[in-house]
Amino acid sequence: MISDSFKIYDISMKITRDMPVYKGRDEKRPKLVTVSDFNSGSAYETVLEMNMHTGTHLDRSLHMIPGGTRVDSLKLEQVITKCKVFDLSSCVDKITASDLKDKDIKEDDFILLKTRNSFEDILEGDFIYVDESGAQYLRDKKIKGVGIDSLGIERSQPEHPTHIKLLEADIVILEGLCLKEIDEGEYFLFAAPIYLPEAEAAPVRAVLLR
Ligand SMILES: [Zn+2]
Repeated sequence: MISDSFKIYDISMKITRDMPVYKGRDEKRPKLVTVSDFNSGSAYETVLEMNMHTGTHLDRSLHMIPGGTRVDSLKLEQVITKCKVFDLSSCVDKITASDLKDKDIKEDDFILLKTRNSFEDILEGDFIYVDESGAQYLRDKKIKGVGIDSLGIERSQPEHPTHIKLLEADIVILEGLCLKEIDEGEYFLFAAPIYLPEAEAAPVRAVLLR
């Protein structure tokens, strides 16, 4: 009866061959191969080959930090939780600490950042990202997690300081969210990754409930 009392918002990307991928790189595109159908066998079966950072996904610290954490150490409480969506669609180019300081961000919050990425065809190019000052601000606030509507929470920052500042503090990073239809406000987030214990990241079917 959950759908009687909650509205479910799907904030996940569709996994298709022609979906947007990081910097438009062909090797980041998913390969879906039908290995059996009713002409060749008695069942329909598909094999998926995909980079973990394609589409809506979660990063663990091993993505950027040698010896870092993997999916196995993630607690589901970290990604099935209350969250706050903030509208940052006025930001041009990037999100800095000063863009975040007027937002109601508190310790242990999970925040989702809605930007121009959700409206404009910029996901493969100069997408909006969180710069190092923004990451430091969120780390100082001791948030639990941060999600964004781009395929990378940063771009064109040598040494990846945004990822590293967040991941060192065990802040969950969600990338590839679709927030076009989502108004600023409070929601319940469901963003459990598929259970790939040894991986540095994993695909997520992310939804918001309200
Ligand atoms: Zn990633």
